[in-house]
Amino acid sequence: MTVITRFAPSPTGYLHVGGARTALFSWLYARKHGGTFILRIEDTDLERSTQESVQAIFDGMEWLGLNYDTEPSFQTHNFPRYKEIIAKLLETGHAYYCDCSKEDLDILREQQMVAKEKPRYNGLCRDAHKPQSDKTVVRFKTPIDGVITIPDLVKGEISVANKELDDLVIARTDGSPTYNLTVVVDDMDMKITHVIRGDDHINNTPRQINILKALNAPLPKYAHLPMILGSDGARLSKRHGAVSVMQFRDDGYLPQALLNYLVRLGWSHGDQEIFSIAEMIEFFDLADVNSAASTFNMEKLLWLNHHYLMHSEPSEIVPYLTWHLKQLDIDAEQEEVNLIQLVKAQRERCKTLVEMAAASVYFYREFENYDEKAAKKAFGDGSENVLTHLKNAFAQLENWEKEALHDVVKNTAETLEVGLGKVAQPLRVAICGSGVSPSIDVTLTLLGKEKTLARLQRAILHIQTTS
Ligand code: GLU
Repeated sequence: MTVITRFAPSPTGYLHVGGARTALFSWLYARKHGGTFILRIEDTDLERSTQESVQAIFDGMEWLGLNYDTEPSFQTHNFPRYKEIIAKLLETGHAYYCDCSKEDLDILREQQMVAKEKPRYNGLCRDAHKPQSDKTVVRFKTPIDGVITIPDLVKGEISVANKELDDLVIARTDGSPTYNLTVVVDDMDMKITHVIRGDDHINNTPRQINILKALNAPLPKYAHLPMILGSDGARLSKRHGAVSVMQFRDDGYLPQALLNYLVRLGWSHGDQEIFSIAEMIEFFDLADVNSAASTFNMEKLLWLNHHYLMHSEPSEIVPYLTWHLKQLDIDAEQEEVNLIQLVKAQRERCKTLVEMAAASVYFYREFENYDEKAAKKAFGDGSENVLTHLKNAFAQLENWEKEALHDVVKNTAETLEVGLGKVAQPLRVAICGSGVSPSIDVTLTLLGKEKTLARLQRAILHIQTTS
């Protein structure tokens, strides 16, 4: 049997990390079994679905690298098929027209609440053979007896008695299909073998199984993934911080780090924490998904991000850093700064790409002002002399390389008979504007001769005019 899984988001907002985790687990399961992974956009709620959020889903999937094997499908393109199935269910006696008005149903619900019964449709029209009109919905005839047992691959066996379920609406008065109907038709037509989705859909599953049975369709296997909670135990939402996948990109996370974080959120393989994509595919199994909810831990994600910044090939990080520099109006591809060396120089002290980009701006642009404290400390007595000496020595240097640069700094200290710090610190503040930077020779290498000389000149003038 070829495994076919799907990710079926409703495009009604940004792509939530919970959705991304569902997508990742479905994707991993398909990849692991050499199967097919489908992206299905469930856009039948015309009022809430937007083109922007369809785009946010595409962008999020692409950024995460969760590729799908067929063109994405849109439920709004499939209305004729849903109509056909609704007609078939009516024909075969598995569905019926119902003209109970909203007011009738409200009264019914109130009566049931007063009697402390579960609110549900009472089946008034079930055997009344109502004719179709512009006031009729179509309801599915849920079997009266029997129990639906779902052997859920994550939650274990879940049983629901049919008498607990009411006759759900499968088409509205305007003929448009409802969620449970469209999901069933698509899962059936796409021959989905494993429905992997959030456990907020557990209540829908017995209803969907009943419809599939009425259509004589094979049943997929189900795996319902537990929720993701915020630190306060409530369902993870915006008020806990970033939840949209693209927000994590904007905040400076690497997709590998977010994927690694998400795969561990509710799944484990021994006590391993770091997984390459190949390892995720190799080890992933639905049987190892935790059935209880998991808590989102931003600190751990940050730790993983730093891990990936530290241990990835610098060349893999360059495109992401370039993107972040672009957000600061720096076109790094057009500049001379060596990006591989820049990543190597900065990654130790930067946990995110946003930090790395911000800490690298002075390689591209003049900084505005000196950090006051650092300048006060570094630009004291004798510093003008040090900087002038450095400037002359650098001006004469033909090969702008780490060792030669280091020698200039060292020789300057020796010639002027001052400690190395008395040379390196004014130099650092002169070229970076602050007292923090990668090692001085690396910083000089990255900055290049021209900018170094100009900044030394600027610092000398600054000292002359402020002292
Ligand atoms: N469209 C549904 C949602 O976004 C998912 C449906 C499903 O996976 O069956 O919640």
